[in-house]
Amino acid sequence: SNKAHSEAFNTTCCYCGVGCGIVVNKDKNDIVTVTGDMDHPVNKGMLCSKGMNLHYTVNDKTDRLLYPQMRLNKSMPLQRVSWDNALDKAAAAFKTFIDKYGPDSVAFYASGQCLTEEYYVINKLIKGFIGSNNIDTNSRLCMSSAVVGYKMSLGEDSVPVCYDDIEMADCFYVTGANPAWCHPIIWRRVEAHKAENPNVRIIVVDPRVTDTCSIADLHLQLNPGTDITLNYAIGRALIENGDIDLEFVKNHTEGFERYREMVFERSITEASVICGVSEDDIRLAARYIGEAKGFLTMWTMGLNQSSIGVNKNLSLINLNLITGHIGKPGSGPFSLTGQPNAMGGREVGGLSNLLPAHRDLNNPLHREEVQKFWKGTTISPTPGLTATQMFDALNEGTLKAIWIICTNPLTSLPNARWAEEGLKKAKFVVIQDISNKAETLKYADVILPAATWTEKEGTMTNSERRISHLSKIVPAPGEALPDSEIICRFAKKMGFKGFDYSSPEEIYLEHTRLTSKTNLNIAGLDYDTIRRNKTIQWPIDKRTGAGTQRLFTNHKFYTASTRAILHSPPDTLLSEMPNDEFPFILTTGRIRDQWHTMSKTGKVNKLNNHISNAFLEIHPEDAASREIREDTIVVVKSRRGEVRLKAKLTFAIKKGVVFLPMHWGKILGSDLNRANNVTSPILDPISKEPDFKFCAVSIEKY
Ligand code: SF4
Repeated sequence: SNKAHSEAFNTTCCYCGVGCGIVVNKDKNDIVTVTGDMDHPVNKGMLCSKGMNLHYTVNDKTDRLLYPQMRLNKSMPLQRVSWDNALDKAAAAFKTFIDKYGPDSVAFYASGQCLTEEYYVINKLIKGFIGSNNIDTNSRLCMSSAVVGYKMSLGEDSVPVCYDDIEMADCFYVTGANPAWCHPIIWRRVEAHKAENPNVRIIVVDPRVTDTCSIADLHLQLNPGTDITLNYAIGRALIENGDIDLEFVKNHTEGFERYREMVFERSITEASVICGVSEDDIRLAARYIGEAKGFLTMWTMGLNQSSIGVNKNLSLINLNLITGHIGKPGSGPFSLTGQPNAMGGREVGGLSNLLPAHRDLNNPLHREEVQKFWKGTTISPTPGLTATQMFDALNEGTLKAIWIICTNPLTSLPNARWAEEGLKKAKFVVIQDISNKAETLKYADVILPAATWTEKEGTMTNSERRISHLSKIVPAPGEALPDSEIICRFAKKMGFKGFDYSSPEEIYLEHTRLTSKTNLNIAGLDYDTIRRNKTIQWPIDKRTGAGTQRLFTNHKFYTASTRAILHSPPDTLLSEMPNDEFPFILTTGRIRDQWHTMSKTGKVNKLNNHISNAFLEIHPEDAASREIREDTIVVVKSRRGEVRLKAKLTFAIKKGVVFLPMHWGKILGSDLNRANNVTSPILDPISKEPDFKFCAVSIEKY
């Protein structure tokens, strides 16, 4: 029977940062089915709609890139070539640009979906051997504000909590996030906890009424961009009520005097007007937090994707610090990562301003330490280009060549028409991808077919620092290769030493050695140990070999003074403000059944059934004033471009605010469903994360 031939493998879901365990069964024809892993600490057998349908994306190979292709010059068609030819061509082009214009004339743009081993070799190649820091990933669009927030408050980019804190918390403050749709399995755990303990309090902060609000005790439907004002007002109320932990503040933090002054600058009444939230509700939120024994804050893009994303993060982490709710069960500030391995990327230093194992690019000793370890070239002290800056530099002509791995910038970058202009102007483009539908392929000089989930081995780290192993289960189609192997082959073509790995595990072990004597120590952790433990949370205790559930239990932080820092940034918004011509505030986001730019979930009919087309969410009164009815075609315009799609009328959104889903790119050559035609190019000044949640638009009937 088929069953006799079926083999079971353990792996981890490749979609989101929740990191659910999956059992993949494979039959003799390499056809797979998936089920939730009952023994997995994260999901205990559960899967959300996306994870549950993963087998379709594995079994359907009809859209896969199967062999390398290249063109001799921009006017010639693409042709099938061997791996050697394709990589020789790429190496020759990269060498030419580096010789002529210096190492900063080339860049790698990768993805939060890359495995840790892949990030590691790309980072090593460009920083350690090419001598530029021009590597960034789409994680820049996702959690770079959280990275800076943690670093400034706690001394390092360290998520202090774990999912098991969910069942120990009795107050949740979920802000700028819709986990019911975007982190479903975490939210199932919160729902179950609340069902068993009705006195658990859930506060949701969001300009929209989302599914997450359905179990909320309190929904603060704030005006977009007013998060800091709200967090300060709650901070003020906590201080006024005597509901802060003065002992903790005195012994383990610094900056409280300034913070106190700052939050007392505005009355709660004044804050209530700015935020569009009643004074009573602000006070009720403070009361819930004040009464909590375990207080978890959870956030994602509503805080991060902002012109003041870092400051929003700081104002939120402050609430955990003044109440002493950190480093103990059921408490802490929890940034929920969007992508499956954004955390792994952070650990290996895979962004343009980071070095491996949370070392600092600014620190000459850290640069030297890494350079000695890699035995390559001097590491440049200059931070590299970030995601959107790369496309600016292509437009300006200073960046000549870009290598894009596992991401679709023409759908996901803000101001996408500008990004597309940049790609058109690039002198040389390498696209390393799995899908023959990627919009970037049109601009490629070299196309490299990559292996995907279940076709390659490696590791990822989820939102709670949990490292898991992903098995190779089925063969990659055609000549597709694992991303790390492609990069290592290219590095060797460039003539660099140190890329001769016999397996992904060898890469991983090298990465773990760089973590030794750092706060994320996992030195010597091999695949067997990860599998034997099922998963393991960094850092690893040197004596016992056990992982770490929770950080800062001794209240010693990673700052110079070992105290956590209360920052008091101004609450001024730096976004593009509405005016007479563009009177609405546009915010963008995800829907339940699609993942990012839909290259995988878009293949699954069942998932497309939930919501099959892009739409504009608008308040019925705003719609009426423009004679817009349900399903009327509307034109949404900003200073940068427009989209044209159907209106969906709903009281779930505030008046004056509209919402577009971010998943759709070009469809049959038309970009009129692409939300990012209109989004703003403004970045957070520190994290360089784009302001996806705020720009000024006009809405008219088509
Ligand atoms: Fe996958 Fe995230 Fe869904 Fe879990 S919650 S099954 S990790 S998409």
